[in-house]
Amino acid sequence: MKKLFFVCFVLLVFSAGAQDKKWAGKFEQLEQMLPTPNTYRTASGSPGPSYWQQRADYDIDVEINDENQLLTGKETITYFNNAPEGMKYVWLQLDQNNLSPGNMTDKTQGSSVRDSVAAYFFPVASETYNYEGGFKIKSVKDATTGKDLPFLVNYTMMRIDLPTVLKTGEKFSFKVEWSYVEKDRMKFSERGGYEYFPEDGNYLYTEAQWFPRMCVFDDYEGWQNKQFLGRGEFALAFGNYRVKITVPADHIVGASGVLQNAKTVLTAQQMERFEKAKKTFDKPVLIATQEEAVEREKLRSKEKKTWEFYAENVRDFAFATSRKFIWDAMAVNLNGKTPLAESLYPKEGNPLWGKESTLAVKNALEVYSSRTIDYPYPVAYSVHTANQGMEYPMMCFNGGRPAKDGSYSQRTQDAMVMVIVHEVGHNFFPMIVNSDERQWTWMDEGLNSFLEKETLRERYPASSRIVSNTPKGITNYMKGDKSIMRPIMGMSDNQGRSFGPNGYNKPAAALTVLRETVMGPELFDKSFKEYAQRWAFKHPKPADFFRTMEDASAVDLDWFWRGWFYTTDHVDVELSTVKWFKVKSEQKDLENKGVKTSQGDLTASAKGKADATDFTQGAQEITVLDTKDNFYGEFRNKVSDADIRAKLQGKNLYELTLKNKGGLVTPVVIEWTYTDGSKEVEKIPAEIWRMNENEVKKVFMKEKEVSNVIIDPGNDTGDVNLADNAFPKKPAGESKFDQLKKN
Ligand SMILES: [Zn+2]
Repeated sequence: MKKLFFVCFVLLVFSAGAQDKKWAGKFEQLEQMLPTPNTYRTASGSPGPSYWQQRADYDIDVEINDENQLLTGKETITYFNNAPEGMKYVWLQLDQNNLSPGNMTDKTQGSSVRDSVAAYFFPVASETYNYEGGFKIKSVKDATTGKDLPFLVNYTMMRIDLPTVLKTGEKFSFKVEWSYVEKDRMKFSERGGYEYFPEDGNYLYTEAQWFPRMCVFDDYEGWQNKQFLGRGEFALAFGNYRVKITVPADHIVGASGVLQNAKTVLTAQQMERFEKAKKTFDKPVLIATQEEAVEREKLRSKEKKTWEFYAENVRDFAFATSRKFIWDAMAVNLNGKTPLAESLYPKEGNPLWGKESTLAVKNALEVYSSRTIDYPYPVAYSVHTANQGMEYPMMCFNGGRPAKDGSYSQRTQDAMVMVIVHEVGHNFFPMIVNSDERQWTWMDEGLNSFLEKETLRERYPASSRIVSNTPKGITNYMKGDKSIMRPIMGMSDNQGRSFGPNGYNKPAAALTVLRETVMGPELFDKSFKEYAQRWAFKHPKPADFFRTMEDASAVDLDWFWRGWFYTTDHVDVELSTVKWFKVKSEQKDLENKGVKTSQGDLTASAKGKADATDFTQGAQEITVLDTKDNFYGEFRNKVSDADIRAKLQGKNLYELTLKNKGGLVTPVVIEWTYTDGSKEVEKIPAEIWRMNENEVKKVFMKEKEVSNVIIDPGNDTGDVNLADNAFPKKPAGESKFDQLKKN
C-alpha cells in the first residue's frame, strides 16, 4: 500500500472533479434517526437490563356451527402487568370488525366507477353480499366477581375499564363472550373464514383473528391500538393457550398447539398412525387417508366432538376444521428436538399436497432453525386453502391447488412449495421474534422472505421462484416512479403501491446484498442469528435489528440502513471511463532527466486519449518523478525513488472512474478479464463513496493486460442499469454487458 502511495497521490491530484450533485451525508451515522437507547433497549441492540413485556394467558371454549357458519366463543384472559406503571384500562383487538357494517376500511378505501367491470370487482361489491360481519360481544365480566366490566368499542379496538388500577406485578382475569358469522373467503379476500365446496356440500374452516385478543403494551409506544385496516397486520403478547374446539364429530381439527385428548377424538387406527408418525423421520405417515376423507364427506354427523389443544408461549392461536381433511405427519430432527411436521388438506389438494406439503414444512423448519434458533414448538401444520398464504404460530394456511383432474404444472408446484416455506417460516418472524406487524411489515415479511429464498436455494435449487427476493429481482421496482414510492421505513398501512415490494422483496433483496456483497456470509449469518437469539419470544423494533447487525459484526452499516431502508434511492453505478497507464522505463527517461516538470504536467499528453472508449490506443506512458526533499519535512530518512520505479516497471495501471447515478451507495464488484482470457473479481466496500458520494476514481495495478472490465457482473448489488457497467464501451444501442456475458 505504501509503495503505491505516490502513484495514487499523483493521480488523485487530477481526479478531484467538480461535484454536480449535493452532498447528502450518506455515510453519516443514523444517530437521531434511531430512538435513544435506554435500560429497556440498549445501544447494542439487545433487550436491556430493565426490559419487560406483558403476558396474556387464554382459556377458550369455541364452537363452530356447521349449519349456519356461526362461531361462538367464551374466553378467560389472565393479563399480567409487568410494566413499570399501573393500568386503568386494557385494549383488545376485534379484528372481525374490519368487515362489520360501517367499518373504517371500506370508508377510507378509494374507489371509482368504470363503464364495465366484472361483478366480483364492482367497487361496492361487499355491500351486495349482505354480509353482517363483526364481533357480537355478549358480555365482558370480571372473572373473580362475575360483575360486568364497562367496555367501549372503537371500530376494531375494544377498551375494557378495570375495577381498580392494575399495579406492576399484578394480574387480572376477565371473561369475554362473543359470536360472529363466518365469512366466505371466496367473497372476501380475508385471512380466516370458510371455503364452500359445492360438489359435496362441505365446508373447510380456517379460523384466524377469531377471538378478542390483547393488544401489545410496551416500552416503545404504550398501547399498540392502531386500527386494523386490513394490511398492517398484528401486534400480540405472548402467553399460554388452552383451547377447546367443538365441531361436528366427523371433522378433523388441527390447531396452534398440541392435541391434549387424542385418545378421545381419534379412532384407534388414527391413534396408531399418529404415534407412528411421531417416530418417522424419512417420509410423511398418513393419519387420515383420502379414501377415509371421501367417506367422511358424505356424513353429516349431528354429534359433536371437542378437541382440546394446549400451546405454551405463543402470541396467537389459529385452527382449521373440516370433514374433508386428509391428514399426514412426520417427525423432524432438530438437534434432538423432534417437532411434528403436519399437513391437512382436502382431496382437492391432491396428489400435490400428499407429495410435497409436509416435506416443505420439514425443509423450512430445518433451514430456518440453522439460521435463527431451533424451532421451539412441538408441532407445525400446513393447511390447504385456496388462493392464500397466511401464518399463525404452529399453523399456516397455504394455496396451491391442482386442476380438477388432479394435474398441475411445475409452476403450481413451485408456487405451492414457496408459499408453504414462507408461511412456515413466519413461525420464526414474527411468531417467535415477535415484531409489531401493524407498524413494520418489513420486520416480519422482509426477514422471512429473505430466509424463504435461502431455503429454496438450499432445498429447491431448481425452483422458478428463487429470483424474487434477489437483488436482480428488485431492479424493476427500484427504478420506478419515485413520486409514488415510499421508503421501507414507513407505516404498513400507508405504503400504497409500495406495500408489497417494501414489505417483502426490497428488504429481502437488501439483506441478500448485505449477506453476499457487504458483510459476507460468515459475518452476516452470525449477526442475523444473534438478532434472532436476542429477540426470540420478545418484541424487537427496527433499531434493535439495525444495531444488532452492526454490534455482532464490526461492520458499520448506518449507510446501508440509511440508503436501503430510509430512502427510495436505487443502485445504478456507471463505469464512466477506464484509463490505462504504464510507467516510463528508466532507459527512456534518461533523455528527459534535465527537464523541469511539476506534478501533473506529465499526464497532459494523456488528455488526447482521455475519451478512449476501449484499449486499442494502448497504454499512456507516465513519468514517476523524484520525490523532492521538502516533502519529507522533519524526517531524516527517505524512500528510495529508484526502488519504487523498479517496482512499477512493466505494470499496468488502470484508473477507473465510477459514477453513482442512482444515489444508493453500494459496494463495487469489479470483474477484470485479462488478454490471456483469465478473470479476477474484486470487491470494494461501499466506503469507497465516503469522500464523494457521486463520483470516484480509483487506480488498480495489474501484472497482466486487461481486455475488459465489468462492474457487478452477477448483478449482486441490484444495479438497475447494467448497460453502462462495462468497458470497452458498448456501441450505441447494444449492451456491451449482455454481449460480454454472452461470450
Ligand atoms: Zn408473509
